[in-house]
Amino acid sequence: MTRRPSEDGAPPEAVCEAPPETGREAPPEAVRDALPEAVRERALAVAPPAYVYDLAGLRAHAAAVRAAIPVELYYAAKANPDPRLLDALAPHVDGVEVSSGGELAHVRAVLPGVRTAFGGPGKTDEELAAAVGGRPPVHRLHVESPHELRRLAALRRETDVLLRINLPVAISGAALRMSGPFGMDSEALGACLDLLERAPWIRLRGLHAHLASGLAAGPLLEVAAQVLGWARTWMEGPEEVTLGGGMAVDYRGPGARFDWAAYGAGLASLRRPGETLRIEPGRALTAYCGWYVTDVLDVKRSHGEWYAVLRGGTHHLRTPVTKGHDQPFTVLRSGGGGPVASGPVTLVGQLCTPKDVFARQVPVDRLAVGDVVAFALAGAYAWNISHHDFLMHPKPAFAYVDH
Ligand SMILES: *Cc1c(COP(=O)(O)O)cnc(C)c1O
Repeated sequence: MTRRPSEDGAPPEAVCEAPPETGREAPPEAVRDALPEAVRERALAVAPPAYVYDLAGLRAHAAAVRAAIPVELYYAAKANPDPRLLDALAPHVDGVEVSSGGELAHVRAVLPGVRTAFGGPGKTDEELAAAVGGRPPVHRLHVESPHELRRLAALRRETDVLLRINLPVAISGAALRMSGPFGMDSEALGACLDLLERAPWIRLRGLHAHLASGLAAGPLLEVAAQVLGWARTWMEGPEEVTLGGGMAVDYRGPGARFDWAAYGAGLASLRRPGETLRIEPGRALTAYCGWYVTDVLDVKRSHGEWYAVLRGGTHHLRTPVTKGHDQPFTVLRSGGGGPVASGPVTLVGQLCTPKDVFARQVPVDRLAVGDVVAFALAGAYAWNISHHDFLMHPKPAFAYVDH
């Protein structure tokens, strides 16, 4: 995994971090075309800055993904744990993947009785106890190390586990490779098997892998084939394999979608009778339903370049900073008087740091003080990964469209 140093003392988004994407930003008309009319109306009615979530769009998208995917489908809550989004997703997924005790408690409260899978490194004894002792107990616990399994076994509770593997698979084109502290190599898996022999109350159900993110259907299927090939030789007839998330979201093409149909067909042909396969996407489920709407406070030229200063900033929408891209946007309404930028303009927020940038040197016909701007693809790893309290600006409003 590539890590860049965090800026402003805010935590690095290790799991979401990726090398900067190069190439052109999304053309504004592509963003405009991707904006549903009901979202536009609501976005113009709320006081900026605001998040506007398209629940109807999320439902339709989740239903389409569900229809295309012939294996179990869990939603990775860390992409966006907003209760209204969880509620909209619930009828279309088999369960929710959580990565902390906090997420587990939240998901249990929002969706009582929903199946959960609990993964992630560094689970504390308290988190393990909450996982196996809470109501309902987690459906699957993803074991990240022999030491974690030892502590789980000490609780002496019946638990169904998947061992998280960290295979050295060949991955081309991944925005982010998950290695380092995530999962185990074969040596550690062997140690887990020894432990399991002495702890029969823990049932080994299979393996878990989440090896890369930002992949298109083809490469993701290649990874799945490698994982399954390995799993089948390691465990005679694995009952279950979770193949992770990591389906790409194209921030340069807001209208583009991961090819769920091709991925689903590929999974159907990879699966063998009797096997349970599961995927756990986050970003590619919720990214499209969120919009961050704000307005232009100031426009100015500095060292020969145009800047538009927007209300709010990356303390509300950190995604472009962590991913190193230009967040796609469209202008919803033109403002009144004041200075006007034309040509390449850099859209920044109100924070006192040069890193508070939404999009750099984007060609525009005009961007003026008072213009209302909507940033697309703000439904995943957006508000919930942002450093809200930096500079103590007001929080955004949250609006939900359910047309
Ligand atoms: C973050 C995460 C996911 C979801 O990844 P996306 O890139 O959002 O699809 C799935 N599984 C695990 C274990 C994760 O850590």
